[in-house]
Amino acid sequence: MNFDQARREMVSRQIAARGVRDQRVLAALEQVPRHLFLSEIQQAAAYGDHPLPIGEGQTISQPFMVASMTEALGLTGSEKILEIGTGSGYQAAVLAVLARQVVSIERILSLAEKARARLKSLPADNVVVHVGDGTLGWPDSGPYQGIMVTAGAPATPKPLLAQLDIGGRLVIPVGSRSSQVIEIHTKTGIDSYSIRKDTACRFVDLIGRHGWEC
Ligand code: SAM
Repeated sequence: MNFDQARREMVSRQIAARGVRDQRVLAALEQVPRHLFLSEIQQAAAYGDHPLPIGEGQTISQPFMVASMTEALGLTGSEKILEIGTGSGYQAAVLAVLARQVVSIERILSLAEKARARLKSLPADNVVVHVGDGTLGWPDSGPYQGIMVTAGAPATPKPLLAQLDIGGRLVIPVGSRSSQVIEIHTKTGIDSYSIRKDTACRFVDLIGRHGWEC
């Protein structure tokens, strides 16, 4: 299988064709080898238009969702980003190409360990993966110029809003356990935000103190 060609086709047919315009995002998706974030048995399906299982009942998100949520952060390259839900590590690797630093939190130890190993084998030395409840954020490294939550939440966790820098954006799927809408919160002042609602989606649960119960 020619993974480079499959990746180029994924970007043009699934992502650019559906309206993602940010050239830096398109280039990052073309650069990061998505198949390396999957088990060998899944690799042939890596560039398909769907999420895939990564073990522990979790998934790597559909490529279009990765691109669209990343574009919504509006990155220029100088930002420190917090990601909640490391999963396979793929989204963190994409963010690492586009931002200065990435802090990613995963609640399942075995996934965090695998993601760390994959990220280490790439040129992605600006990512750190922590194990914990990401609904609490990671205040020691904040504030963040962007925060991305890659699991579905019943509501936006307040600690994440508090750790967002003024001018920064928080991108999060919010809704019921079976369907959500991507919300983009922009922090306009110490305690003020604007909210825009984007694509309908379906993510696995965000589980934690400010998320769903286990
Ligand atoms: N971004 C991932 C990737 O690129 O593979 C996909 C993430 S997967 C859709 C959602 C992940 O969020 C799962 O790995 C899940 O264990 C994790 N998760 C759920 N609740 C969490 C929490 N409170 N803190 C950290 N991670 C959480």
